[in-house]
Amino acid sequence: MINFNQPHLTGKETHYMYEAVNTAKLSGNGMFTKRCQQWFEQRYGFRKCLLTTSGTDALEMCAMLCNLKPGDEVIIPSYTFVSTALAFLREGAKVVFADSMQRNPNIDAETLESLITPRTKVIVPVHYAGVACDMDAIMNIAKKHNLLVVEDAAQAIDSYFQSPITNHQLPLGGIGHLAAFSFHETKNVTAGGEGGLLVVNDERFVRRAEIIWEKGTNRAEFFRGEVNKYGWVDIGSSFLPAEINAAFLWAQLENLDDIQAKRKALWTRYYELLKPLEEQGHFKMPDVPNYATNNAHMFYIVLPSLEARTAFLKYLKDNGVGAVFHYLSLHSSVYYADKHDGRALPQCDRYADCLVRLPLFYDLTLEQVDHICEIISTYYLSHC
Ligand SMILES: *Cc1c(COP(=O)(O)O)cnc(C)c1O
Repeated sequence: MINFNQPHLTGKETHYMYEAVNTAKLSGNGMFTKRCQQWFEQRYGFRKCLLTTSGTDALEMCAMLCNLKPGDEVIIPSYTFVSTALAFLREGAKVVFADSMQRNPNIDAETLESLITPRTKVIVPVHYAGVACDMDAIMNIAKKHNLLVVEDAAQAIDSYFQSPITNHQLPLGGIGHLAAFSFHETKNVTAGGEGGLLVVNDERFVRRAEIIWEKGTNRAEFFRGEVNKYGWVDIGSSFLPAEINAAFLWAQLENLDDIQAKRKALWTRYYELLKPLEEQGHFKMPDVPNYATNNAHMFYIVLPSLEARTAFLKYLKDNGVGAVFHYLSLHSSVYYADKHDGRALPQCDRYADCLVRLPLFYDLTLEQVDHICEIISTYYLSHC
């Protein structure tokens, strides 16, 4: 059986975790936490980074920083992981679901303006599979209507938006006012199973982000000597990961270029071998627009119908391939259905019914990708 995912170890994880233990500073915000945060700030030019215990937590911090009032509206794609919506719902916001594009599962920027009302406060683009949303369009709409943009960059480490207008290459997570990354074990790098990162790009939010991160205390300012005592000054929660997790993450970040090169080689092999089957009309391949780069977070294909997908997944399973479907759209889920205004979201439905993700992880081999593609080719030879 070829698993769908397998977490990768670079070999240095336990070494750094041991080092963390030996510093006798095990709680958060120690040497490894600072090292990881600085790495992101320096490599991508992010204004301020704070490690969190999960991507979900980073999104919750974003939602808290947006300072929403009950009834404020937040536009999010319906085809996304539940945390994107949950973080804002918990702050009393009303979530307004947007449809995906026909070309890929990212939010359709062309439908955004029709969803904006006087209560709209935030847009949350999700860079699905690490492929950029149309950030020129989204940032322009946000500017025009004075909205905040929170990037759900959970899957988007080391991926870029290449603006056709300015010709600049901007790192995902560095474009919106705030952003969230995830280091869950299914992502390109992991902090030992669970972890995340809050990115603050807008200076206005830096001070409050540090406070919320530390349970509502101004400890960070105290330790920098900016105030002579610290106290409870705001809301917050326990968002800091332990040093053990930061140490694990550090071993992965140090090897990011190697991890990315390997994942991209596997992704490209899938693409080349499956392209002929797309040309025969069996399914659609992943679409990476000219304005986006590919960080090889995921390799997916989109089949023509739910029936076709069900049969295909069963065949792959019977042949030892751990392929899986992905999100059930939020607007048709048990908890969110009655929070939705009833608009049809046909592209979200299509991806919920028809998308298939194939195994993609560092320790997968090119030979295994060849084998999976051969199984898929045989399927279409015998079924169509
Ligand atoms: C993984 C993921 C999250 C949540 O991250 P966790 O670290 O698992 O909490 C949120 N949004 C998207 C799009 C994700 O893929």
